[in-house]
Amino acid sequence: MLNFHIITLFPETIEAYLNASILGRAQKEKKIKISYYNPRDYVSPRAKLCGAGTIGKQVEGRLDYKKTDGRPYGGGPGMVMLAEPVLKAVSKALAKTKTSKTKPKIYIFSPAGQIFDNVLADKLAGFKKGKWSDKLMTKHIVLICGRYEGLDARVKKIFKATDLSVGPYVLTGGEVPAMIVIDAITRRLPGVLGKDESIEERRISSSEIYTRPEVLTFNKKKYRVPKVLLSGHHAEIDKWKLKKK
Ligand code: SAH
Repeated sequence: MLNFHIITLFPETIEAYLNASILGRAQKEKKIKISYYNPRDYVSPRAKLCGAGTIGKQVEGRLDYKKTDGRPYGGGPGMVMLAEPVLKAVSKALAKTKTSKTKPKIYIFSPAGQIFDNVLADKLAGFKKGKWSDKLMTKHIVLICGRYEGLDARVKKIFKATDLSVGPYVLTGGEVPAMIVIDAITRRLPGVLGKDESIEERRISSSEIYTRPEVLTFNKKKYRVPKVLLSGHHAEIDKWKLKKK
């Protein structure tokens, strides 16, 4: 089983997606396990302190305030996620990996990181030259989701974590990247998709696909399925698919 450990301040943004459809089934069938760790759970409640004028005064009604971010040293806009709550959350996740023979992989999502792609997904899922083996599968993957301006840089140093990006754009948090990484890795694990040959990289696939009806009528116009796909001639179909790639 492949264990994903997600460190996030907003687990509710991820759960619905991962619990539905194929990924939900993969969890039920114990192909993968997903655990959530909220840095906020590792902070003791305290009273929120207000701005400069009111420092020291406790604000009524906010006694449960749990601080998980702070202003950046050296100035600059936005807030930085405090190291300690994240360190505690990651430590909790790592404690669960002790019995595993393979080393857990720790990733911190960052738009400046290594770009996540099919090659890395295959490697983490346990594929080598198109062949899967349980031995090669990474058993524990820790995914740290940043928010605001990101994490205190010491988290990366302490865990020797790797920065991982899901693309050349900036999002508001690492939660969507976590869903992307888990989705891409899980769908290639043996038995997760109905048919293993559904995995694009291991077959001839096309982005142009059709299903019933054979002739679709929309706004009085008819749209037909390409003839070759109805021919039953597999060599010709493959040739067509390659052209449409
Ligand atoms: N100013 C920061 C951006 C913070 S975005 C910077 O330049 O690094 C807030 C968080 O969203 C990041 O800490 C990261 O965890 C996540 N994030 C945003 N875009 C991402 C991307 N393309 N890939 C992976 N994570 C991303």
